[in-house]
Amino acid sequence: MSSNPFEQPGQFFKGNLHTHSNTSDGMLPPEEVCRRYRERGYDFLCLSDHFLPKYDFPVTDTRPFRAEGFTTILGAEMHVGNTALGEKWHLLANGLPLDFPAPREGETAPEIAARCRAAGAFVSIVHPAWYSLGVDDARSIESAHAIEVYNHTSAVKTDRGDGTVLFDQMLALGHRLNALACDDAHFELDDAFGAWVMVRATERSPEALLAALKAGQYYSTTGVELRDIRFEGDELVVACSPATGIYLQGKGSREVHAIGHDLTHARLPAYKLGKHGFMRLTVLDAQGRRAWSNPFWREG
Ligand SMILES: [Zn+2]
Ligand SMILES: [Zn+2]
Repeated sequence: MSSNPFEQPGQFFKGNLHTHSNTSDGMLPPEEVCRRYRERGYDFLCLSDHFLPKYDFPVTDTRPFRAEGFTTILGAEMHVGNTALGEKWHLLANGLPLDFPAPREGETAPEIAARCRAAGAFVSIVHPAWYSLGVDDARSIESAHAIEVYNHTSAVKTDRGDGTVLFDQMLALGHRLNALACDDAHFELDDAFGAWVMVRATERSPEALLAALKAGQYYSTTGVELRDIRFEGDELVVACSPATGIYLQGKGSREVHAIGHDLTHARLPAYKLGKHGFMRLTVLDAQGRRAWSNPFWREG
């Protein structure tokens, strides 16, 4: 069984890992983006500007904007090579050095993903539905830690924010990936503060947060709070903010659920999903907001 953030020491820290400033194509300067997230009560932010030649391959330095109760992770969004549909790849790298080298001539998406991971980054396949990323594309990124199950800007701007279809396909194929929900805000539209992660760590430092992300010690949300998840025997016991659906999802069509009004607890028969493969929790509320756990893996 995979480790469970609710069974780890520490507390949950709120952060957004995917956002742009005017260092690339965002509307606001880095300082102002950081200020807005800090004022909103976020514990951390990563400015992930587009790592492209027209912006001089930026890893935006947000260290000056760290403050009491607020830290930043350095990172960027990578674009080398093309997907099967001939579009430029989008890969998120959280936790890069400021001097991360520009792409090599002919470097591919799997290669730069591997280089980001080797440099210490938490690497994610982002907004797959936004550009119809396929399973074969996703399978080529062996260095990925996570897939965005929700991208807020893609949802607001194109109604293609949901990445769960690709995520479930990858899990069914045995890829040990985690879920991720992000804003990808550019502040061009009302595209901020819609999706974030809650990371379980013992301190609010970039190093501790990155280690927890890589270990899957977090959950993703658009506003639903997960208060506890634990296995008791063959059942999953869930506590959450008031919900209309609490779903435990497994390979293919396997799932069990609790449906109702103002549900704050559920006891789900996890054993019905079988002894092998993954199971993951989604909680939906009456406003259409969700929370997603990372997958739990059963070894059989
Ligand atoms: Zn992108
Ligand atoms: Zn982006």
